Amino acid sequence: MRLEGKTILMTAAGQGMGRASALACAAEGARVIATDVNQEALETLRSASANIETHHLDVMDAQAIQVLAEQLPDLDGLFNCAGFVHHGTILDLSDEAWEFSVNLNVTSMVRLTRALLPGMLRRAEQGGSASILNMASMASSIKGFPVRTAYGTTKAAVIGLTKAIAADFVKQGIRCNAICPGTVDTPSLRGRIAAAADPVQAEKDFIARQPMGRLAQVADITPMVVYLLSDESMFVTGQAMLVDGGVTI
Ligand code: NAD
Repeated sequence: MRLEGKTILMTAAGQGMGRASALACAAEGARVIATDVNQEALETLRSASANIETHHLDVMDAQAIQVLAEQLPDLDGLFNCAGFVHHGTILDLSDEAWEFSVNLNVTSMVRLTRALLPGMLRRAEQGGSASILNMASMASSIKGFPVRTAYGTTKAAVIGLTKAIAADFVKQGIRCNAICPGTVDTPSLRGRIAAAADPVQAEKDFIARQPMGRLAQVADITPMVVYLLSDESMFVTGQAMLVDGGVTI
């Protein structure tokens, strides 16, 4: 099992790619500390695997991050998965909406990594290594998409943050990478489709931007998550790994 002996914390593990990643990592032998704001979703996740323990965590709550960090063991892996898609151009973007996206998509990763990195450095000092994985997107510094100003800007910042952390700690056994999925069929994508003026057309449009003619399923994404959190990717750091079904060919 590729993650045997590793303890990995994940945010936004209640549904979508976070949940699928928690289950995939647990199946590979990791002890998974799964966090989310949705307590009900966490309970069903905990009952799905003996390797998963759960904690309520709002990643926008700086104090809650500190409190949780003090209770945790030193970690081998951290998957910063939480993020939010704001829909709109720069002309639709209020200061409040901008600040919300920055706080949820970027500041949360800064705070969580800052709180957990000392323990990861201790793990690495004991002869091992530790891996940080940040959820970015193909919609970022990699490619611009319509009505994704706050999203693309903040996911670009996630890639910058990833490279900065990787550069600072490369000599101390810490790796940091970002994963950049294409359009993935998750509950929040379904919500975006349902919220469109014409949901049938909106789904067609999301599929049309994927050259393979289909949405990604979470199972298309989890192998890359497991790889980047495992020792198989020991020589990989500072990278933004696209799993986008060919959008950015
Ligand atoms: P999702 O959006 O359906 O679920 C997100 C989870 O985050 C939910 O369980 C929710 O309860 C939790 N959450 C919301 N606010 C939170 C907070 N403040 N603190 C902690 N948890 C919180 O899942 P998804 O679509 O797989 O998205 C997960 C990540 O992947 C996001 O960062 C998203 O931007 C990114 N992403 C999604 C897609 C896609 O097409 N779905 C593509 C690329 C990247």
